[in-house]
Amino acid sequence: MLKIDNYINGELLPAKESQYLDNYNPATGEVYSQVADSTASDLDDAISAATEAYPKWSRSSNEERCALLLRLANEVAKHSEPLAKAESQDTGKPFGLAMRVDIPRAASNLQFFAHAITQYSSQSHSMGDLGLNYTLRDPLGTVACISPWNLPLYLFTWKIAPALAAGNCVIAKPSEITPMTAFLFSKICHKIGVPKGVLSILHGSGAGIGAKICSHDAVKAISFTGGTKTGASIASEVAPSFKKVSLELGGKNPCLVFADAHLEQVAEQVVKAAFTNQGQICLCASRIYVEESVYPEFSELLVNKVRNLKVGDPLEPSMDMGSLISSSHLQKVQSYVNTAIAEGAEVLVGGSKIELGGRCVGGSFYEPTILANVDQKSCVNQEEIFGPVVTLQSFRGEAEALSLANDSKYGLSATVWSQDVGRCHRVAKGLEAGIVWVNSWMLRDLRTPFGGYKSSGLGREGGLEALNFFTQSKNVCIKY
Ligand code: NDP
Repeated sequence: MLKIDNYINGELLPAKESQYLDNYNPATGEVYSQVADSTASDLDDAISAATEAYPKWSRSSNEERCALLLRLANEVAKHSEPLAKAESQDTGKPFGLAMRVDIPRAASNLQFFAHAITQYSSQSHSMGDLGLNYTLRDPLGTVACISPWNLPLYLFTWKIAPALAAGNCVIAKPSEITPMTAFLFSKICHKIGVPKGVLSILHGSGAGIGAKICSHDAVKAISFTGGTKTGASIASEVAPSFKKVSLELGGKNPCLVFADAHLEQVAEQVVKAAFTNQGQICLCASRIYVEESVYPEFSELLVNKVRNLKVGDPLEPSMDMGSLISSSHLQKVQSYVNTAIAEGAEVLVGGSKIELGGRCVGGSFYEPTILANVDQKSCVNQEEIFGPVVTLQSFRGEAEALSLANDSKYGLSATVWSQDVGRCHRVAKGLEAGIVWVNSWMLRDLRTPFGGYKSSGLGREGGLEALNFFTQSKNVCIKY
């Protein structure tokens, strides 16, 4: 069976203690490869390689690092098809979605930060006749990039690209349940000759090697994307060492539909916002609030569109949705639906596992689900389900819309649908969320700082913020 090995010091290497974990295809339930379960000795090798590589890499010119990242971007784009296939196989997401979104975005991440570093500048402050202050920015050394399973290569590259562009050496750990694209990426790195030690990719469990990477003394910063609970545990674990930490965490994102919106078009977009990637995107809308006067009409439109979604084999081009990430995740999703029903909710559509035949007989497919009459304080409305389950509720006026939307410990993203420009601005200002989409969803300019309010995260990634995170600044003050 295929073995997914680590990438250390420019080489693909087996786990030193020969431990491997099974890697499942969630759409079939079958084990199709085995992934290295790294231990402290693999980490020691990666740290030694990074430490040796750092002096030269950190002094390389911006243009050299730009050129390397552009080569990586080109290779990713060139290998879109096998990468998308691997992504679909690891996650259960439709192959077409991976081809359209995940892989092109991974290439754009590398491209964006390749160019960004050539435009990165520091400040100077004149003190008139007295003197001059200027700021120098240096890389940090060896940094850790920890990414989750839902958008494996997209989020992996989102983290490593700015870290490498800024001149750091990186130890990256993809999720143990979706290691395949990072493995293919390590083959690309090997092929194009990324300097030894500049990037290491260690596979294995989060609680095992993930925690070890974060707590290693040589690791100066941690860029983490994942669940809020894991983020909190990493933050508290490393707090005494004063490492830099950036946390991109969970969400429970509200979507506000006002009566003056184009309901038919909005319903189409809300279906995308709620169910793309089986609802397993941190930015997916999961609480849909609709102005009371149009609630019945909008609810009908939405339910009809959801009924038309096709769920099935991710390799079939006609499918809108594939499999959830695992059978245990499906059980978690089902348990929230069961709780809602026990609390008196109405299932407008969905609510059950889908049993498929053929090669997908052991897969983890779940119906896109809309629940109505769920109490605002229910865990179903307050906790991140991270699956194809949304709640639908009505509101009266802007004030109530904002109060319901903001009634959450999370604050990652929000969407507003209305034709009233003034209202769009007012509501956007009032929403407690790191990103607010108005009459759109998932429209992104990579220069924009990205991150969440409240329990959705700490720090900002994207654009200059990411380069600032992966550098430290030094002020030089000269007296004339
Ligand atoms: P987890 O928090 O379970 O894991 C994220 C990553 O951290 C994985 O690589 C995991 O490894 C690793 N990890 C787990 N425990 C530790 C630890 N103690 N120390 C270091 N690393 C650790 O999240 P999921 O993978 O389940 O991803 C889903 C979550 O990610 C959702 O909550 C979602 O909202 C959030 N997310 C946030 C985004 C954002 O930008 N805000 C974007 C995308 C997702 P392993 O999997 O091998 O255990």
